[in-house]
Amino acid sequence: MPAKPLALSTAGLDYLAIAQFVFLHAGCLLVFWTGVSWVAVAACFAFYCLRIFAMSAGYHRYFSHRSYKTSRIFQFILALVGCLSNQKGPLWWAAHHRYHHSHSDRETDIHSPGQHGFWWAHCLWIFSLRYRKADQKLVANFAHYVELRLLDKFYLVPPLFSAALFFLLGVILNLARPELQTSGMQMLAWGFFVSTVLVHHAIYSVNSLAHSLGSRRFNSADMSRNNLILALLTFGDGWHNNHHYYPRSARHGFYWWEIDLTHYLLKCLSYVGIVWDLQSPPERIYITGTRIRSMDHLSEHDCQST
Ligand SMILES: [Zn+2]
Ligand SMILES: [Zn+2]
Repeated sequence: MPAKPLALSTAGLDYLAIAQFVFLHAGCLLVFWTGVSWVAVAACFAFYCLRIFAMSAGYHRYFSHRSYKTSRIFQFILALVGCLSNQKGPLWWAAHHRYHHSHSDRETDIHSPGQHGFWWAHCLWIFSLRYRKADQKLVANFAHYVELRLLDKFYLVPPLFSAALFFLLGVILNLARPELQTSGMQMLAWGFFVSTVLVHHAIYSVNSLAHSLGSRRFNSADMSRNNLILALLTFGDGWHNNHHYYPRSARHGFYWWEIDLTHYLLKCLSYVGIVWDLQSPPERIYITGTRIRSMDHLSEHDCQST
Protein backbone atom coordinates (compact mmCIF):
# COMPACT_ATOMS: atom_id res chain seq x y z
CA MET A 1 0.00 0.00 0.00
CA PRO A 2 1.04 3.64 -0.42
CA ALA A 3 3.97 5.08 1.42
CA LYS A 4 4.85 8.69 1.89
CA PRO A 5 5.08 10.88 -0.12
CA LEU A 6 1.74 10.58 -1.88
CA ALA A 7 2.04 12.80 -4.90
CA LEU A 8 0.22 12.79 -8.18
CA SER A 9 2.41 11.81 -11.09
CA THR A 10 1.19 12.02 -14.68
CA ALA A 11 1.58 8.27 -15.05
CA GLY A 12 -0.64 7.61 -12.06
CA LEU A 13 -3.52 9.95 -12.85
CA ASP A 14 -7.10 8.75 -13.06
CA TYR A 15 -8.20 10.91 -15.98
CA LEU A 16 -11.81 9.71 -15.74
CA ALA A 17 -12.04 10.93 -12.12
CA ILE A 18 -10.42 14.26 -13.04
CA ALA A 19 -12.77 14.70 -16.02
CA GLN A 20 -15.82 14.15 -13.77
CA PHE A 21 -14.51 16.62 -11.18
CA VAL A 22 -13.85 19.31 -13.80
CA PHE A 23 -17.15 18.63 -15.60
CA LEU A 24 -19.21 18.96 -12.40
CA HIS A 25 -17.47 22.17 -11.31
CA ALA A 26 -17.62 23.68 -14.79
CA GLY A 27 -21.33 22.81 -14.94
CA CYS A 28 -21.93 25.11 -11.95
CA LEU A 29 -20.91 28.06 -14.14
CA LEU A 30 -24.18 27.55 -16.02
CA VAL A 31 -25.91 29.51 -13.23
CA PHE A 32 -24.43 32.75 -14.64
CA TRP A 33 -26.26 32.07 -17.85
CA THR A 34 -29.50 30.52 -16.54
CA GLY A 35 -30.10 32.83 -13.58
CA VAL A 36 -31.91 31.64 -10.50
CA SER A 37 -35.45 31.00 -9.26
CA TRP A 38 -36.74 29.83 -5.88
CA VAL A 39 -37.86 26.51 -7.37
CA ALA A 40 -34.34 25.82 -8.69
CA VAL A 41 -32.79 26.63 -5.30
CA ALA A 42 -35.39 24.43 -3.58
CA ALA A 43 -34.51 21.57 -5.95
CA CYS A 44 -30.82 22.10 -5.20
CA PHE A 45 -31.46 22.01 -1.44
CA ALA A 46 -33.80 18.99 -1.55
CA PHE A 47 -31.45 16.92 -3.72
CA TYR A 48 -28.54 17.90 -1.46
CA CYS A 49 -30.40 16.73 1.67
CA LEU A 50 -31.57 13.49 0.08
CA ARG A 51 -28.07 12.49 -1.02
CA ILE A 52 -26.30 13.67 2.13
CA PHE A 53 -28.66 11.41 4.06
CA ALA A 54 -27.97 8.50 1.69
CA MET A 55 -24.21 9.06 1.98
CA SER A 56 -24.31 9.37 5.76
CA ALA A 57 -26.89 6.70 6.57
CA GLY A 58 -26.11 4.43 3.61
CA TYR A 59 -22.54 4.59 2.32
CA HIS A 60 -21.08 5.52 5.71
CA ARG A 61 -23.08 4.15 8.63
CA TYR A 62 -24.54 1.10 6.87
CA PHE A 63 -22.18 -0.12 4.13
CA SER A 64 -18.94 0.94 5.83
CA HIS A 65 -19.79 0.27 9.47
CA ARG A 66 -22.90 -1.92 9.57
CA SER A 67 -24.19 0.14 12.45
CA TYR A 68 -27.78 -1.01 11.89
CA LYS A 69 -29.72 -3.57 9.90
CA THR A 70 -32.25 -3.24 7.11
CA SER A 71 -33.94 -5.20 4.33
CA ARG A 72 -32.32 -5.94 1.00
CA ILE A 73 -34.75 -3.55 -0.71
CA PHE A 74 -33.95 -0.58 1.54
CA GLN A 75 -30.26 -1.49 1.33
CA PHE A 76 -30.56 -1.12 -2.45
CA ILE A 77 -32.45 2.18 -2.16
CA LEU A 78 -29.70 3.59 0.08
CA ALA A 79 -27.07 2.39 -2.39
CA LEU A 80 -28.90 3.81 -5.40
CA VAL A 81 -29.55 7.23 -3.84
CA GLY A 82 -25.96 7.34 -2.56
CA CYS A 83 -24.78 6.55 -6.07
CA LEU A 84 -26.63 9.65 -7.33
CA SER A 85 -23.94 11.66 -5.51
CA ASN A 86 -21.43 10.63 -8.16
CA GLN A 87 -18.97 9.27 -5.58
CA LYS A 88 -18.75 5.85 -7.19
CA GLY A 89 -20.56 2.75 -5.95
CA PRO A 90 -21.23 1.67 -2.35
CA LEU A 91 -18.66 -1.16 -2.40
CA TRP A 92 -15.86 1.11 -3.67
CA TRP A 93 -16.73 3.79 -1.13
CA ALA A 94 -17.11 1.43 1.85
CA ALA A 95 -13.89 -0.49 1.05
CA HIS A 96 -11.82 2.70 0.97
CA HIS A 97 -13.53 4.00 4.09
CA ARG A 98 -12.91 0.78 6.03
CA TYR A 99 -9.26 1.00 5.00
CA HIS A 100 -9.19 4.60 6.26
CA HIS A 101 -10.46 3.50 9.68
CA SER A 102 -7.90 0.74 10.02
CA HIS A 103 -5.01 3.09 9.07
CA SER A 104 -6.35 6.44 10.34
CA ASP A 105 -3.76 9.21 10.09
CA ARG A 106 -0.91 6.79 9.77
CA GLU A 107 1.43 6.90 6.78
CA THR A 108 -0.58 4.18 5.09
CA ASP A 109 -3.90 6.06 5.40
CA ILE A 110 -5.47 6.87 2.04
CA HIS A 111 -6.39 10.43 2.96
CA SER A 112 -4.85 11.99 6.03
CA PRO A 113 -4.37 15.78 6.12
CA GLY A 114 -1.63 15.31 8.72
CA GLN A 115 0.30 12.83 6.61
CA HIS A 116 -0.37 13.95 3.06
CA GLY A 117 -1.66 17.52 3.24
CA PHE A 118 -5.13 19.09 3.36
CA TRP A 119 -5.93 19.03 -0.37
CA TRP A 120 -4.77 15.45 -0.82
CA ALA A 121 -7.12 14.38 1.97
CA HIS A 122 -9.91 16.60 0.62
CA CYS A 123 -10.03 15.50 -3.01
CA LEU A 124 -6.64 14.92 -4.67
CA TRP A 125 -6.44 11.28 -3.56
CA ILE A 126 -9.42 10.50 -5.80
CA PHE A 127 -7.36 11.52 -8.86
CA SER A 128 -4.77 8.84 -8.17
CA LEU A 129 -5.05 5.72 -10.31
CA ARG A 130 -3.97 3.79 -7.22
CA TYR A 131 -7.47 4.14 -5.73
CA ARG A 132 -9.53 3.63 -8.86
CA LYS A 133 -10.31 0.10 -7.76
CA ALA A 134 -11.17 -1.00 -4.26
CA ASP A 135 -10.12 -4.16 -2.44
CA GLN A 136 -13.29 -6.25 -2.58
CA LYS A 137 -12.06 -8.39 0.32
CA LEU A 138 -12.62 -5.38 2.60
CA VAL A 139 -16.35 -5.45 1.77
CA ALA A 140 -16.84 -9.21 1.49
CA ASN A 141 -20.05 -8.99 3.55
CA PHE A 142 -21.72 -6.90 0.82
CA ALA A 143 -19.83 -7.88 -2.35
CA HIS A 144 -22.01 -10.96 -2.95
CA TYR A 145 -25.07 -8.80 -3.69
CA VAL A 146 -25.31 -8.64 -7.46
CA GLU A 147 -27.26 -5.35 -7.44
CA LEU A 148 -24.52 -3.65 -5.43
CA ARG A 149 -21.83 -4.97 -7.78
CA LEU A 150 -23.84 -3.62 -10.73
CA LEU A 151 -24.08 -0.18 -9.10
CA ASP A 152 -20.33 -0.25 -8.52
CA LYS A 153 -19.71 -1.12 -12.14
CA PHE A 154 -22.18 1.33 -13.71
CA TYR A 155 -21.89 4.05 -11.07
CA LEU A 156 -22.12 6.84 -13.65
CA VAL A 157 -25.56 5.82 -14.89
CA PRO A 158 -27.70 6.99 -11.90
CA PRO A 159 -26.20 10.52 -11.69
CA LEU A 160 -26.44 11.01 -15.46
CA PHE A 161 -30.04 9.83 -15.32
CA SER A 162 -30.81 12.30 -12.51
CA ALA A 163 -29.23 15.12 -14.54
CA ALA A 164 -31.52 14.27 -17.48
CA LEU A 165 -34.53 14.17 -15.13
CA PHE A 166 -33.75 17.64 -13.74
CA PHE A 167 -33.49 19.01 -17.26
CA LEU A 168 -36.81 17.41 -18.18
CA LEU A 169 -38.47 18.70 -15.00
CA GLY A 170 -37.32 22.23 -15.83
CA VAL A 171 -38.67 21.96 -19.39
CA ILE A 172 -42.04 20.71 -18.10
CA LEU A 173 -42.25 23.43 -15.41
CA ASN A 174 -41.37 26.07 -18.00
CA LEU A 175 -44.29 24.97 -20.13
CA ALA A 176 -46.83 24.20 -17.40
CA ARG A 177 -45.94 26.89 -14.82
CA PRO A 178 -44.14 29.76 -16.63
CA GLU A 179 -44.69 32.02 -13.58
CA LEU A 180 -42.02 29.95 -11.75
CA GLN A 181 -39.47 31.40 -14.17
CA THR A 182 -37.38 28.27 -14.48
CA SER A 183 -36.10 26.27 -17.45
CA GLY A 184 -34.48 22.95 -18.29
CA MET A 185 -30.98 24.40 -18.15
CA GLN A 186 -31.66 26.26 -14.89
CA MET A 187 -32.91 23.12 -13.15
CA LEU A 188 -29.94 21.19 -14.53
CA ALA A 189 -27.54 23.87 -13.26
CA TRP A 190 -28.95 24.18 -9.72
CA GLY A 191 -30.66 20.83 -9.14
CA PHE A 192 -27.84 18.74 -10.49
CA PHE A 193 -24.51 20.58 -10.88
CA VAL A 194 -24.51 22.96 -7.90
CA SER A 195 -26.19 20.45 -5.61
CA THR A 196 -23.76 17.65 -6.55
CA VAL A 197 -20.68 19.82 -6.08
CA LEU A 198 -21.98 20.89 -2.64
CA VAL A 199 -22.51 17.22 -1.69
CA HIS A 200 -18.98 16.41 -2.87
CA HIS A 201 -17.28 19.09 -0.81
CA ALA A 202 -19.38 18.34 2.28
CA ILE A 203 -18.38 14.67 2.15
CA TYR A 204 -14.75 15.48 1.23
CA SER A 205 -14.59 17.79 4.26
CA VAL A 206 -15.10 14.84 6.59
CA ASN A 207 -11.74 13.50 5.36
CA SER A 208 -9.96 16.86 5.41
CA LEU A 209 -11.58 19.28 7.92
CA ALA A 210 -12.82 16.63 10.36
CA HIS A 211 -9.23 15.43 10.68
CA SER A 212 -7.79 18.90 11.20
CA LEU A 213 -10.30 21.42 12.58
CA GLY A 214 -12.49 21.02 15.66
CA SER A 215 -12.39 19.62 19.17
CA ARG A 216 -11.35 16.21 20.44
CA ARG A 217 -13.41 14.63 23.20
CA PHE A 218 -11.82 11.22 22.97
CA ASN A 219 -8.15 10.41 22.81
CA SER A 220 -8.50 8.31 19.66
CA ALA A 221 -5.33 7.10 17.94
CA ASP A 222 -5.79 9.55 15.06
CA MET A 223 -6.42 13.26 14.41
CA SER A 224 -10.22 13.08 14.13
CA ARG A 225 -12.19 16.10 15.33
CA ASN A 226 -15.75 16.99 16.32
CA ASN A 227 -16.96 19.91 14.26
CA LEU A 228 -20.47 21.36 14.71
CA ILE A 229 -20.63 23.20 11.35
CA LEU A 230 -19.56 20.07 9.52
CA ALA A 231 -22.01 17.99 11.54
CA LEU A 232 -24.84 20.27 10.38
CA LEU A 233 -23.69 20.15 6.74
CA THR A 234 -23.22 16.37 6.70
CA PHE A 235 -26.25 15.42 8.80
CA GLY A 236 -24.11 14.32 11.75
CA ASP A 237 -20.91 12.90 10.25
CA GLY A 238 -18.98 15.93 11.54
CA TRP A 239 -18.91 14.33 15.02
CA HIS A 240 -15.93 12.54 13.63
CA ASN A 241 -13.88 12.18 16.81
CA ASN A 242 -16.85 10.42 18.46
CA HIS A 243 -17.16 8.27 15.37
CA HIS A 244 -13.50 7.26 15.21
CA TYR A 245 -13.55 6.39 18.89
CA TYR A 246 -16.58 4.13 18.52
CA PRO A 247 -17.30 3.51 14.79
CA ARG A 248 -19.96 0.86 15.40
CA SER A 249 -22.50 3.40 16.61
CA ALA A 250 -25.35 4.45 14.29
CA ARG A 251 -25.41 7.60 16.38
CA HIS A 252 -22.47 9.96 15.80
CA GLY A 253 -23.69 12.78 18.05
CA PHE A 254 -23.26 10.93 21.34
CA TYR A 255 -25.04 13.59 23.43
CA TRP A 256 -28.42 15.31 22.95
CA TRP A 257 -26.77 18.62 22.14
CA GLU A 258 -24.70 17.08 19.34
CA ILE A 259 -27.11 17.50 16.43
CA ASP A 260 -27.15 14.37 14.29
CA LEU A 261 -29.90 14.53 11.65
CA THR A 262 -29.04 11.14 10.18
CA HIS A 263 -29.54 9.53 13.56
CA TYR A 264 -32.89 11.23 14.07
CA LEU A 265 -34.06 10.07 10.64
CA LEU A 266 -32.79 6.53 11.24
CA LYS A 267 -34.69 6.52 14.54
CA CYS A 268 -37.87 7.52 12.67
CA LEU A 269 -37.26 4.77 10.11
CA SER A 270 -36.77 2.27 12.95
CA TYR A 271 -40.19 3.17 14.42
CA VAL A 272 -41.85 2.05 11.17
CA GLY A 273 -39.67 -1.07 10.85
CA ILE A 274 -37.61 -0.01 7.81
CA VAL A 275 -34.33 -0.24 9.78
CA TRP A 276 -33.59 -2.02 13.04
CA ASP A 277 -30.86 -2.96 15.54
CA LEU A 278 -29.42 0.56 15.62
CA GLN A 279 -26.13 0.39 17.52
CA SER A 280 -25.50 2.94 20.27
CA PRO A 281 -22.35 3.81 22.20
CA PRO A 282 -22.04 1.49 25.22
CA GLU A 283 -22.02 2.84 28.78
CA ARG A 284 -18.21 2.69 29.02
CA ILE A 285 -17.94 5.27 26.20
CA TYR A 286 -20.19 7.68 28.12
CA ILE A 287 -18.20 7.07 31.32
CA THR A 288 -15.01 7.97 29.43
CA GLY A 289 -16.70 11.04 27.92
CA THR A 290 -17.95 12.22 31.35
CA ARG A 291 -14.51 11.68 32.92
CA ILE A 292 -12.82 13.73 30.18
CA ARG A 293 -15.40 16.52 30.54
CA SER A 294 -14.96 16.73 34.29
CA MET A 295 -11.17 16.80 33.85
CA ASP A 296 -11.63 19.65 31.34
CA HIS A 297 -13.78 21.56 33.85
CA LEU A 298 -11.19 21.01 36.57
CA SER A 299 -8.35 22.32 34.39
CA GLU A 300 -10.50 25.33 33.34
CA HIS A 301 -11.13 26.02 37.03
CA ASP A 302 -7.38 25.70 37.74
CA CYS A 303 -6.63 28.18 34.95
CA GLN A 304 -9.17 30.69 36.29
CA SER A 305 -7.93 30.46 39.88
CA THR A 306 -4.27 31.00 38.89
ZN1 LIG B 1 -16.44 5.94 9.30
ZN1 LIG C 1 -11.92 9.75 9.43
